[in-house]
Amino acid sequence: MTHLDGNVLAGVAADLFAFDTTTATGRCAECRDVATLAEALVYGAPMGFVARCRACLAVLVVIVERPGGTLLDLRGMRWVTTHVGDRRPAVSPGSTPPDGPPSRAT
Ligand SMILES: [Zn+2]
Repeated sequence: MTHLDGNVLAGVAADLFAFDTTTATGRCAECRDVATLAEALVYGAPMGFVARCRACLAVLVVIVERPGGTLLDLRGMRWVTTHVGDRRPAVSPGSTPPDGPPSRAT
């Protein structure tokens, strides 16, 4: 099976992160609660932030600012969707995330 290198993701990744991330909706990997990032409970630390699930307090997102870059850990999110137009990017382009993203009324 042939594959492409990660450079092929440049365009879609740039589009994916070019929005107000607090409006992104995600599912907690622990309890399956679906909410926007703005609804998370955020705890600040000198070096970054920890966002916890509003329902079960599991860690959803960790952002650590460090020399040379910022670390983004999304392992507490089962999936994240952005709601930009009709585009519904998921964790894996071209596939529906496990349990599917929420439907949006149009
Ligand atoms: Zn949860």
